[in-house]
Amino acid sequence: MSYTEEIYERVVAQNPNEPEFHQAVKEVLDSLKVVIDKNEEEYRRLSILERLVEPERIVSFRVPWIDDKGTVQVNKGYRVQFNSAIGPYKGGLRFHPTVNQGILKFLGFEQIFKNSLTGLPIGGGKGGSNFDPKGKSDREVMAFCQSFMTELCKYIGKDEDVPAGDIGVGGREIGYLYGQYKRITGLYEGVLTGKGLNFGGSLIRTQATGYGLVYILDEMVKAHNDTLEGKTVIVTGSGNVAIYAVEKATQLGAKVVAMCDSNGYIHDPDGIKLDVVKDIKEVKRGRIKEYADRVPGSTYTEGTGIWNIKCDIYLPCATQNELALDAVKTLVANGVKYVAEGANMPTTLDATEYLQEQGILFMPGKAANAGGVATSALEMSQNSMRLSWSAEEVDARLKEIMVNIFKKVSEAADRYDLTDNYVVGANIAGFEKVVDAMKAQGIV
Ligand code: NDP
Repeated sequence: MSYTEEIYERVVAQNPNEPEFHQAVKEVLDSLKVVIDKNEEEYRRLSILERLVEPERIVSFRVPWIDDKGTVQVNKGYRVQFNSAIGPYKGGLRFHPTVNQGILKFLGFEQIFKNSLTGLPIGGGKGGSNFDPKGKSDREVMAFCQSFMTELCKYIGKDEDVPAGDIGVGGREIGYLYGQYKRITGLYEGVLTGKGLNFGGSLIRTQATGYGLVYILDEMVKAHNDTLEGKTVIVTGSGNVAIYAVEKATQLGAKVVAMCDSNGYIHDPDGIKLDVVKDIKEVKRGRIKEYADRVPGSTYTEGTGIWNIKCDIYLPCATQNELALDAVKTLVANGVKYVAEGANMPTTLDATEYLQEQGILFMPGKAANAGGVATSALEMSQNSMRLSWSAEEVDARLKEIMVNIFKKVSEAADRYDLTDNYVVGANIAGFEKVVDAMKAQGIV
């Protein structure tokens, strides 16, 4: 059995009931096989893969808080500090009822390679809670965030571990978390990113993941002598990543015709009116179905099936495993040409393979959505220097980072004669830097 296969079996045996973590590890190990095979003896001797798949530390804790009825609620809290070979742990916090340790391990594992691809000095981590902010009052969200941070603050710091937002954690939650960190520690430091602009946040951080996704998509499209101009696009989700992907894709001349939330999807053949979506989602915290009530000519469909709408480009920006084999078969039959993942691991393994077999150009999340964490690292730099860059400056840096990621990913794929296989390219390019650092730092 090859070293990569052995490690995959070990991960499955030692981490039961964590299917998303197994899936993320399998995708990476399958890609790395060509690299590992060339130098298997050395990787085995140093137990590189055993160390790579084992988090350096996982903190798990109780989060008690009091709801508006005066009842004591208890949630689970976690921080997975996966790998600090190239910098302090960096990765978001997710607040969603589906959160468990396995999901956070998959996200933390992906984050190692993503952060490496940005070229910035940040290690991989992820955290969160099974708390559901949906339907909670502002006071309840604040009470939860304060309790969560009261425990988490013992394990994070500007040079140790710097969390950010993810699903269910936006500007409001980061604000409450930051306030509590400052109150307990007395430190005004860049311990979280995604902060408000008047207390250390960076311009463009809110837009960064969505904009970055479209910047790298644009590079991929241009590399195949094509253009975004006039393309029909579907963006799934209607959260932070989705909204700003729609904004940038529209600015670059594409037409986004559909978006969704977890209840259903909207179709607007004339092109999504983003100001209406922003009002529903960012201001009123409402449901996407309200769009069809407000925009004549658009329709709302309850449930899944957004992929049945014809498009040239599909950008899954909602959640893991949202895009399965049946759906991609429909997309391909309808002529899709490009898929780029705004979300983390939104495409199942068999669906990814099918897209690649059919010659559809596919950019995986660890490259495509790296703009968010890259801009978080730019926020850390600004905090350390105690200054703020202009929106133009941050945006220019973000674009440069995404262009460089595209180059690294394509070059790595080319080096192994796997041109246009961006999955393999991203995993290899991300892995190489981390492994060099791990080797140099000895057995730790
Ligand atoms: P948000 O919470 O802002 O938005 C998530 C969106 O996805 C919501 O519209 C939500 O709908 C929808 N959604 C969730 N589950 C489903 C589902 N099963 N079917 C359809 N729609 C669903 O999160 P983000 O935009 O921040 O994150 C989205 C993805 O991008 C995640 O995978 C995240 O890990 C990844 N990501 C985020 C980054 C960031 O900077 N924010 C950086 C890199 C990756 P509803 O409101 O109904 O739940």
